[in-house]
This record gives sequence, structure tokens and C-alpha cells, in this order.
Amino acid sequence: MTQDCIFCRIAGGTASESLVTETPDALAFMDINQPTPGHVLVIPRRHVQDIYTLDEATAAMVFQLAVRVAQAVKIALRPDGINLYQSNEHAAGQEVFHFHMHVVARYAGDRDRVCVFLQPNLPPHAELDRLAAEIRAAL
Ligand code: 5GP
Ligand code: ZN
Repeated sequence: MTQDCIFCRIAGGTASESLVTETPDALAFMDINQPTPGHVLVIPRRHVQDIYTLDEATAAMVFQLAVRVAQAVKIALRPDGINLYQSNEHAAGQEVFHFHMHVVARYAGDRDRVCVFLQPNLPPHAELDRLAAEIRAAL
């Protein structure tokens, strides 16, 4: 656990988040930023900074949970499909240095969006809890 890491605090239960599901070694929770409703983050509990320090067993375990969640998001919210990706440290302008996979719902209209990220108005926490419950029900 790294005290100054927000994702470690979420994994340790000392920061609030809308949990989708968890395993002994990983957890999935709603991203606070919802450019399209259904954006989930999947992280290892243990602090791993990036893919360069990620061991294969942890990588496999996180990816397995991310795929399960992606399938559930598709069922629960977004029949259009899912983008599953990982953005790696500085090259991606990353702010949180704790390895994570993004599960991003795809919308038919996405092609027309100039930028799906950094929307100015974050949804209320209750909205994230509602989305998390819908995905959890589909798991
Ligand atoms: P990246 O740095 O790869 O772009 O992604 C970091 C992600 O973490 C962003 O999508 C950002 O919205 C999300 N994020 C940052 N801080 C928090 C937080 O405290 N709680 C949650 N749920 N998501 C966060
Ligand atoms: Zn961390």
C-alpha cells in the first residue's frame, strides 16, 4: 500500500468509490469521469506502477477481471460494445501511477465526438453507484 496513491487508498478501503466487483487480488470500480456512462477501472490491489514493473501473473489476473467486467458492461449497459485499454504512465499524460485497465463503453455516436474525455461536469456519486449495480448484476 502506497499512502499517497489514490488507487491504493481505494483498494485499501480508505477512499470512497463505486465498487463494481472485487477479487482477493484485484478490484473494479467506476471511474469518476464518465465520458460515456459505464466507464470502469480495473486495478491490482497491490501497487504496481506501470507495465514495466508488472509481473505476468498479475497482468493475467487483472486482464481476466477486466474482460469479465467488459462483458458485463456490454450486457448491462452498452450493446454497442466496449473498448478495453491501458494507458501507460507519462507517455499517455497519466495522472495516476497505479497500473489500471480502462473499460470504456462504446456508443454508436462516438465517431462524431471530438474528445470523449475530460467532460467538465462529473456525474453525482449516486449515478456511479447505479451504474456499478447494473454491471454487478450482469456479472
Ligand atoms: P489515466 O491517468 O490513465 O488517464 O486514467 C486515470 C483515471 O483515473 C482517469 O480516467 C480518472 O478519471 C480516474 N481517477 C482519478 N482519480 C480518481 C478517483 O479518485 N476515483 C476514481 N473512481 N477515479 C479516479
Ligand atoms: Zn497504488
